[in-house]
Amino acid sequence: MRFMSLLIKNGRIITASEDYVADVFIEGEKIKAIGIGLPINADETIDATGMFVFPGGIDPHVHLDMPFMGTFSSDTYETGTRAALHGGTTTVIDFILQKQGNSLKAALEDWRSRSNNNCVGDYSFHMAVTDFNEDTKKEIKHFIEQEGITSFKTFMAYKGALMIDDRQMIGLMEEVKKQGGMVTVHATNGDMIDYLIAKHRGEGKLSPLYHYLSQPEVTEAEASERFVDMANYTGCPGYIVHLTCEGALNAVRNATKRNQTVFVETCIQYLLLDAGLYEKNFDGAKWVMSPPLREKKDQQTLWAGINQGLVKVVATDHCPFNWQQKLMGEKDFSKIPNGHPAIEHRMELLFSEGVNKGKITLNKYVEVACTNPAKIFGMFPKKGTIGIDSDADIVIFNPSEKHTISASSHHMNVDYSGYEGWEVTGKVKTVLLRGKIAIDDNECKLEKGYGQFIKRSKLSGII
Ligand SMILES: [Zn+2]
Repeated sequence: MRFMSLLIKNGRIITASEDYVADVFIEGEKIKAIGIGLPINADETIDATGMFVFPGGIDPHVHLDMPFMGTFSSDTYETGTRAALHGGTTTVIDFILQKQGNSLKAALEDWRSRSNNNCVGDYSFHMAVTDFNEDTKKEIKHFIEQEGITSFKTFMAYKGALMIDDRQMIGLMEEVKKQGGMVTVHATNGDMIDYLIAKHRGEGKLSPLYHYLSQPEVTEAEASERFVDMANYTGCPGYIVHLTCEGALNAVRNATKRNQTVFVETCIQYLLLDAGLYEKNFDGAKWVMSPPLREKKDQQTLWAGINQGLVKVVATDHCPFNWQQKLMGEKDFSKIPNGHPAIEHRMELLFSEGVNKGKITLNKYVEVACTNPAKIFGMFPKKGTIGIDSDADIVIFNPSEKHTISASSHHMNVDYSGYEGWEVTGKVKTVLLRGKIAIDDNECKLEKGYGQFIKRSKLSGII
């Protein structure tokens, strides 16, 4: 059988550890040769002179078509993965949410009914365990060994809907460790937050600003420390999603002093935006998410954390809601659907604000946006790098082209942008997904159904 072939010539190839100019030869879905002046004829040739060639981005934290507060996040699997491709993200990891009282399997089937044959880009799932009991415990092994779903998300907040208590957390960690998986966490103190929300509502303080004031830094620092302690006690690999602040990162820093490995993810918005946005009356609802945006000093902590190797991943927590949906909370901040759109612009924003402004190196950029998510979540070296026999997921990037972010031109299915009017330097030009041209000059060339579910490997041995 003969596969289609493609040659990318003279691009500047950037991986997490290398930086050189060469050609990349692709046959079928895989990278088959890398070298200077490769003497190979291909069916198609792309001249990448003057361009950067990055591995396809991996966003390990997105919520597509997700049921939440009586509505659904506005991007479907089709629109969300397509928008991701436009921005150079070729693989996403979405979250399945167990319904309390039901099995993990029932939740998987529910999520598959929305995602199957609907993705344009590649995808995987984390399994969120919201009700850990003897029956749930028996399902863990099956998810890891048969379904290729090896990471289990937990919530230390949202009591009565998603939260598990510490007793369940310890039980889950022991089982997940035994079976070779990882426990990830939304680490905020749910009881403290519930108290503060009730208090503010009782005092008639109902604007989006009070969403922020109901989740102070200490609620995240406390829970992060508790999670890290439990992970240390059980020996289970642990990963903190969307970490936002100095207090929480210092809890992780302390854990590393006792030679504990724990993985930290932050999201692009926590690096670039701050809580000042909540002072814009109801317009602040655009950025109502949990945890909320923090302060400038926290942004500094997070950039430093990336360079110190404590923050391993920059994701998005993409969870878009249209303005009409956000208006559900017009009179009460606690009814604003949580989340904001970012899946499309993570790679370009991180490049423009991080690499271009001298905060991180090109190699670090690829490490936190592409390579580490693949390594931590069991997809490396199939995904996350440019190497022989890796999937040909490739971004050809013009580092000097300027453009402006706007809801009028983005591809996400949401009617506002959290970054309206931001000028960005650096633009995704061409994207390949498993050897096929996915994006070329702002146009998507793939149909829904091309995106594959990626089974992930066991995660034991990573700490
Ligand atoms: Zn999330």
